[in-house]
Amino acid sequence: MPNNLLALNWKMNKTPSEAQAWAAELSSALSPGEAELAVMAPAIMLPALAAGLPAGVAYGGQDVSQHESGAYTGEISAAMLRDVGAKYAIVGHSERREYHGETDAVVAAKARQAQAHGLTPIVCVGEGLEVRERGEHVQYTLAQLRGSLEGVGTDVVIAYEPVWAIGTGKTATAEDAEELAEAIRGALTEQYGEAAGTLRILYGGSVKPDNIASICAKPNVNGALVGGASLKVADVVGMNDAL
Ligand code: PGA
Repeated sequence: MPNNLLALNWKMNKTPSEAQAWAAELSSALSPGEAELAVMAPAIMLPALAAGLPAGVAYGGQDVSQHESGAYTGEISAAMLRDVGAKYAIVGHSERREYHGETDAVVAAKARQAQAHGLTPIVCVGEGLEVRERGEHVQYTLAQLRGSLEGVGTDVVIAYEPVWAIGTGKTATAEDAEELAEAIRGALTEQYGEAAGTLRILYGGSVKPDNIASICAKPNVNGALVGGASLKVADVVGMNDAL
C-alpha cells in the first residue's frame, strides 16, 4: 500500500507574500509524519513555495494546459510547472469541469500532457447531488474516470470528490468514501493491472483535522485532497499529525 498523500488545494486564495509567510509558519510548526504533503497553489506562488517550504514538502499546479506551448493566452504549461519544480498538477477538478466546461477528453489530454513533462496528474472525479440521490454515483463516477484516463499512464493519482461534499461542510462518511475508492481501484485494475494496487486514491470534500483519520483508515483510501482546511497552518499540521 502506498503511503498517504495529503494534497492541499488552495484554490484562488492567498497572495504570493501570504504564501511565503504560510510556508515559513509551516516550516516552524510541521513535524514530519508518515504522509507525503503537497501544496497545490496558484502557479504564480510556486516560486515562493519552492524557496520557503520545509524540505520534503512537494508542490504543484491546480490545473495545466493540454497544449505544449503557443497561442493559448492565460494558460500554464506542464513545462512551466516542471521548470519551477512542481511535482503534481490537479486536473479535472469539479470547479474546472463546471465553470470552464472541461470534458473528460480535455481532462485526459491534460493528464497526458502533465505526464509527458514528468508531472504526476491528480485526476479528480465525483458525482453531483442529483446523481447521488438517484443512486447512480458509482456508475457515473467510473464512467467519468474511464473517460478522464484515456491514454493516461500509471504515474497518476485519483481524487474522488463528490461535488455535494466540496466546501459544503457535508462530508461523505468514511464508508461512502471507501465504496467509491474500492470501485475506482477495480476500474484501475482493469486499466493498469497489478500496478493499480500501488496507486493512490484520495478522498476530497470537507476534509478536516477531525475527520481525516477515519476516512484515510479505509483500505482503498490513500490520502485526501483538501480545500478549505488547507489554508491555515494549524489545520494542516492537525491533519498531518492525524495521518
Ligand atoms: P473542500 O474542497 O475541502 O473545501 O471541501 C475540496 C476540493 O475542492 O478539493
